[in-house]
Amino acid sequence: MDYVEHVTDLVGNTPLVRLNAVATGKTPVLAKVEYLNPGGSVKDRIALRMIEAAEASGELRPGGTIVEPTSGNTGVGLAMVAQRKGYRCVFVCPDKVGEDKRDVLKAYGAEVVVCPTAVEPEHPDSYYSVSDRLVTEIDGAWKPNQYANPENPESHVHSTGPEIWRQTEGKVTHFVAGIGTGGTISGTGRYLKDISGGAVKIVGADPEGSVYSGGHGRPYLVEGVGEDFWPSTYDKGICDEIVPISDAESFEMTRRLAHEEALLVGGSCGMAVAAALKVAENANPDDVIVVLLPDGGRGYLGKIFNDSWMASYGFLSPDVGGGRVGDVL
Ligand code: PMP
Repeated sequence: MDYVEHVTDLVGNTPLVRLNAVATGKTPVLAKVEYLNPGGSVKDRIALRMIEAAEASGELRPGGTIVEPTSGNTGVGLAMVAQRKGYRCVFVCPDKVGEDKRDVLKAYGAEVVVCPTAVEPEHPDSYYSVSDRLVTEIDGAWKPNQYANPENPESHVHSTGPEIWRQTEGKVTHFVAGIGTGGTISGTGRYLKDISGGAVKIVGADPEGSVYSGGHGRPYLVEGVGEDFWPSTYDKGICDEIVPISDAESFEMTRRLAHEEALLVGGSCGMAVAAALKVAENANPDDVIVVLLPDGGRGYLGKIFNDSWMASYGFLSPDVGGGRVGDVL
């Protein structure tokens, strides 16, 4: 019989899909489709590794509680693994995260605490501060802290990187990904740099206004990427280039991916693809660009895929993105 013992056994080994409609040049642009992980995002990869490392070190004990500030995807991965192993989960989200995403966490049995987005990280109501307080208040609590946990990038050194190298038969020349905690780009980037002797170029995609592309944390709407501080999970030396992308470009490309490539993905995927296409403009025909798409689009139906929401931010006006968003209505 062909089955796995638990859904978490299906994490990783996601496929590469060539983009044909949005990428029309000779250089292949291959999308690593992370929504095909069982929890629907790239974050399934880090969840299992962080939890098992904490069990091994004794930081997480039987019957313990996992407390984490998460925009949703890490929460789903943690909740899946926690269910299997019998832990309670309390997640802390900023209020810019869509209600759909929060409901998903609750459906997996997690508790969710919502905090304001528009405060400094040091503010007592910020989602970082609230999660720190909960860790001290709840008995047996453990905080994975995806922003500082070395097992986050390490999970990509052991899974995402080797998968891409194997799937491209060592032909990958560029790896493009968004940067949130930086775990994906730092771990995958380190593996690909090491195995290729430094030949693979690592390109970060970043929302305009985020620190990684030289901003100061000016607010932007794309979720899960960009920061207003420098997490230790991000290796500052890993990127050969960082491409800033506006919300308008990210959301336009996100809608095109659904409409033209049948890839219903999240806003950070549109952002990463927009950056990958800029890389492709200057690439050679025998280059191979891999771009990582972190999650699926269902959590954004009320936002990016909702015309009124888009119009309320001016993203549907013809002078934004050359009218492209309007084209796909
Ligand atoms: N996109 C989305 C939707 C995410 O949730 C995250 C994780 N915060 C990322 C991209 C960035 O991944 P990483 O944290 O590994 O840099």
